[in-house]
Amino acid sequence: MKLLWAPWRHEYVKKAAKEEDCFFCVLAGKKEGLDSLILAKGKYCFTVMNKYPYNPGHLLIAPYKHTSSIHELDSRTWEEIRMMLIKCIESLNSTLKPDGFNIGINIGRAAGAGVIGHIHLHVVPRWNGDTNFMSTLADTKVISASLASIYKLLSKKMRERR
Ligand SMILES: [Zn+2]
Repeated sequence: MKLLWAPWRHEYVKKAAKEEDCFFCVLAGKKEGLDSLILAKGKYCFTVMNKYPYNPGHLLIAPYKHTSSIHELDSRTWEEIRMMLIKCIESLNSTLKPDGFNIGINIGRAAGAGVIGHIHLHVVPRWNGDTNFMSTLADTKVISASLASIYKLLSKKMRERR
């Protein structure tokens, strides 16, 4: 599986001019489920599995609000993102049992953001001995478990904790 979002593959890095062109805004209008890969929807934000993961269980948390600026998210949104992040980590810990996590926001093309118009938080599980972040980015990566089977595991856990 080729990573579609390596930062130097600029043909995939396009700024959404309008909300109807935005990957996250389109997703925000969909329901939870395997088709959308959305694991949980809150009042202000939602969690979706990354279709092109760095590692199995790579999740994205995005606000419904279309903005590229962290300044434009209010405290209620940040609080819900925080709660969603805890839920993601607990669900991953109890299923895929990673040794650690990378959690972060890529702001701007220079930082490697794949969707630069709509801010989102990456939650990337890490295991001892997996490749480091940059070499993972550098070439093809084999994802050992399928998206569908991980989705099933995680969605069950995310629902238990509601
Ligand atoms: Zn958007």
